[in-house]
Amino acid sequence: MTLPDIVGADPKVARSSAYRNLDVLLRCGAIRRINSGGDYTHFELAEPLLGHHHHLICISCGSVEDVHLDSDIEHLVDKSLNEIASRTGFTPTHHSLDLHGLCSHC
Ligand SMILES: [Zn+2]
Ligand SMILES: [Zn+2]
Repeated sequence: MTLPDIVGADPKVARSSAYRNLDVLLRCGAIRRINSGGDYTHFELAEPLLGHHHHLICISCGSVEDVHLDSDIEHLVDKSLNEIASRTGFTPTHHSLDLHGLCSHC
């Protein structure tokens, strides 16, 4: 959801109160911010709640679509990233991969 989606979902909730609650949810790790790179900041439930997935992010209209990779592909991506990490002495905890481009409407 975008910020206007969230704020507009219930007109009775003050905008400042919605922002404050979003900040609390972000800081406690229940939701995360998706860096869509445009004017549209998206928020979604954190991965432990929603499951691991990736995003297709439209650079024109700012839409964000969730996509799941086949488990074989997901495993290969993870393996490749872990190999790169171990070569540099980096200790990975998780990955996030988003594909940026143009959606079917744009
Ligand atoms: Zn688009
Ligand atoms: Zn993944």
